[in-house]
Amino acid sequence: MFDNLSQRLSGILDGLTRRGALSATDVDTAMREVRRALLEADVALDVARSFIERVRERAVGVDVIKSVTPGQMVVKIVHDELVTTLGSDAQAIDLNAPAPVAIMMVGLQGSGKTTTTAKIAKRLTDLGKRKVLMASLDTRRPAAMEQLAVLGKQVEVDTLPIVQGQTPPQIAKRAIEAAKLGSYDVVILDTAGRITLDEAMMAEAADVKRAADPHEVLLVADALTGQDAVNLARSFDERVGLTGIVMTRVDGDGRGGAALSMRAVTGKPIKLIGTGEKMDALETFDPARIAGRILGMGDIVSLVEKAAANIDAEKAARTAERMRKGAFDLTDLREQLTQMQKLGGLGGLMGMIPGVAKMKNQLAAANLDDSLLKRQCAIIDSMTPKERRNPDILKASRKKRIAAGSGTKVEEINKLLKMHRGMADMMKAMGGAKRGPMAGLANA
Ligand code: GDP
Repeated sequence: MFDNLSQRLSGILDGLTRRGALSATDVDTAMREVRRALLEADVALDVARSFIERVRERAVGVDVIKSVTPGQMVVKIVHDELVTTLGSDAQAIDLNAPAPVAIMMVGLQGSGKTTTTAKIAKRLTDLGKRKVLMASLDTRRPAAMEQLAVLGKQVEVDTLPIVQGQTPPQIAKRAIEAAKLGSYDVVILDTAGRITLDEAMMAEAADVKRAADPHEVLLVADALTGQDAVNLARSFDERVGLTGIVMTRVDGDGRGGAALSMRAVTGKPIKLIGTGEKMDALETFDPARIAGRILGMGDIVSLVEKAAANIDAEKAARTAERMRKGAFDLTDLREQLTQMQKLGGLGGLMGMIPGVAKMKNQLAAANLDDSLLKRQCAIIDSMTPKERRNPDILKASRKKRIAAGSGTKVEEINKLLKMHRGMADMMKAMGGAKRGPMAGLANA
């Protein structure tokens, strides 16, 4: 469904990547075209606007890494912002609650709610061999109840027996009771939809939610309805409260804007996408993969990522060199702290540095954990360049200023300085060794 958008974007960005240098005007022109392409794909105006704004800001401030062109850099920025707009990380259905975990499905009639209910049930039983019970709460359309029973047989998942004359909240409660008695792990409640967004449907959904207290409330929305799907999500969220969205008919030739706007407008993640009528046509919504599909420039993105990783390695090697010479100042320490954060905190770092047991104890003695890393960076950031080069000039009044500037205490500054002194001394002592203590970082 992203075909058109994909073609437009790669056309625009291809032009940029083939040039050696880029002027601000080049980027501006390209961004205007990207904005137009987004709007034509039915992306909400605000979302398109802030997307462009973020790309432009980052494109202006970015250091171009040697070995990639400015245009390739822009592609990478556009890609990253697409991922952010789509919601960053893939979010699975959350089953982290006492069994039976209730999942409530809401949405308009014809959006694919019943089909999706069965698809999810199939996926849960297939993947984790979980025991799932499905229940139709559509008291207005006996055919809908029948449809769920038929699909249940097809995917070999139990459905709650139909009892005439019960209200939807009563059926929901009966389903949960039955799930408890039958030791089911998950119970999926397929609520009734209506042709259009109306108050009766919302009120009924809200009643069911109160009765069932579901762990997940998933809106099933038809991607082909574009902006309407986004508005629907907003209304349902305000009135009933959603935990996530399943977008169906992503296999159709919609323009894709709904998928792009959904997260930004509603704040709710798209968790799954329906990609066909078959029972296994359900996929996890993975923002990185979708962004890749939209941009179709995976090669360039990974090229820039690799180049960026090399830059970090080069920086680390430079720092290691300075350490060997015994010129380890607070700017270097700041660099190390940043590297530590990037490398997965202290635990990840230690494994990479040979001969560091001694320092490990020292860092542990300084009570270095990962939130501390951030505070320590803040302390160094609040110093003047002169102070970073020569920490000996840090007397009481300077320390007070730094503490105020970084939101920390003077004792913390003292601890940091002590740690730095210890590290610098040790590095000097190890200077004779062939490999500096941080040399391992360069190969990390
Ligand atoms: P409900 O009224 O919301 O319960 O909708 P249904 O589950 O009955 O689905 C309506 C129609 O949409 C059925 O023919 C489904 O096979 C079809 N459908 C559901 N999801 C998808 C999807 O992801 N892709 C396509 N192409 N068709 C779908």
